[in-house]
Amino acid sequence: HVPVVLFTADLRLHDHPPLRAALDAADAVVPLFVRDRAVEAAGFAAPNRRAFLDGCLADLDAGLRERGGRLVVRSGDLVGEVCRVVAEADADEVHMSAGHSRFAARREERLRSALEAAGRRLFVHDAVTVAVPPGAVTPASSDHFAVFTPYYRQWERVPLRQVAGAPRRVPVPGGVGGEEVPARGGSTGASPALPPGGESGARTQVTAYWRRGLDAYDTARDDLAADATSRFSAHLHFGTLSPVELVHRARRHGGAGAEAFVRQLAWRDFHRQVLAARPEAAHADYRTKHDRWRTERTAGADIDAWREGRTGYPVIDAAMRQLRHEGWMHNRARLLTASFLAKTLYVDWRIGAAHFLHWLVDGDLANNQLNWQWMAGTGTDTRPNRVLNPVTQGRKYDPDGAYVRRWVPELSGVGAPSVHEPWKLPAPDRAALDYPDPIVGLPDGLDRFRRARGKQP
Ligand code: FAD
Repeated sequence: HVPVVLFTADLRLHDHPPLRAALDAADAVVPLFVRDRAVEAAGFAAPNRRAFLDGCLADLDAGLRERGGRLVVRSGDLVGEVCRVVAEADADEVHMSAGHSRFAARREERLRSALEAAGRRLFVHDAVTVAVPPGAVTPASSDHFAVFTPYYRQWERVPLRQVAGAPRRVPVPGGVGGEEVPARGGSTGASPALPPGGESGARTQVTAYWRRGLDAYDTARDDLAADATSRFSAHLHFGTLSPVELVHRARRHGGAGAEAFVRQLAWRDFHRQVLAARPEAAHADYRTKHDRWRTERTAGADIDAWREGRTGYPVIDAAMRQLRHEGWMHNRARLLTASFLAKTLYVDWRIGAAHFLHWLVDGDLANNQLNWQWMAGTGTDTRPNRVLNPVTQGRKYDPDGAYVRRWVPELSGVGAPSVHEPWKLPAPDRAALDYPDPIVGLPDGLDRFRRARGKQP
């Protein structure tokens, strides 16, 4: 009796219910990861996430080896590969964690049918990649998938499962072959300052953040230059950190910082719940439909300037350059750049979301698409017509201009507050800067936005 443990978005050994259940039921298991061709064909395996994933797999394999096992890596159609491994190991059951996109749900169903046809069983474990699984919270209002606050009030009260420790030993039988486990990092086209993937690094990062960052999370998280957020997002996306464990640990730690941090983890679950209920929200306007978006054809030059960080709005350009350099962007900067593209430039949010998904190491269908919809005013935002002003927001969240100067070297000699409005510098100073003029005036952008939304300019 040898179960297969299929790792997906849960690349860790601590707090891993499928692994724990398999080890409870047998003396040895086959830990398997399949590089699913369908994920690659959908363009989702972008260079940054591929490099990070390689780090995660290398670290998982190392962790398993310390425990007497190893990771089996295969490539191809996930269902076909799992069935092959099951046959090779003569396994009778497969354990995996639940996914929440339409793609994951269909894949899980195909796998279940294929295994059952072969007389094998599939066990799908909940609350592995989320703290509270989709559907566990259903606020009474009719709008229950659309508003965060009532969701959160109930989310807070859901009892979480216990944290499962990492197993001491994971014996793996011989005879099931796999590919070479990739070396850590080093994928072509990846961002130069990409963080490394892997559970061991993630756990060290948690310890450090608990010591030095968490208590100030509520007051400093919006400060662009302080960079005071956890940077756990890629670890949560790949499952090198467990959301259940993080919530338990943050609650034990206590205080306003920890509370605000837990609330953000609830946002993550909320978006998964929305996507599980309405999978089409990954691509279609969720609540409010808009059909006058500008596109590549009508706004190509503006879109290129936005992507390349040369819009002439310093905080926008800083953020877009951070994205390419690190494969990550500060949340406040994501809000500003998304508002700028979808509202000030009135460009289809899907174009921005696709660019983010290409570069973000934490690029995640639920979080990315639904946050974009939130900012574009098509999603769950209760103030869909709010437009964030990059100058006033820059002054507020980067008062000294340190964030801008870090990412836009053309402005490295400009102090605050001019650094957020370099076009207002005296003419000779302005002329000395090798930095573009704004591609659009903010009032013009606002007029276009209001006209497109059918409001009086
Ligand atoms: P922290 O502030 O330390 O938060 C802790 C964790 O809470 C994060 O790691 C994340 O898992 C979760 N979280 C925080 N804010 C949000 C939020 N608004 N929605 C959902 N979960 C949140 N996050 C992604 O993980 N992947 C994406 O592809 C993604 N795309 C985004 C696109 C836009 C336009 C916007 C506005 C936000 C997006 N976010 C996305 C949410 C958020 O910006 C990031 O999760 C956060 O910046 C990651 O940094 P951190 O880990 O330091 O976050």
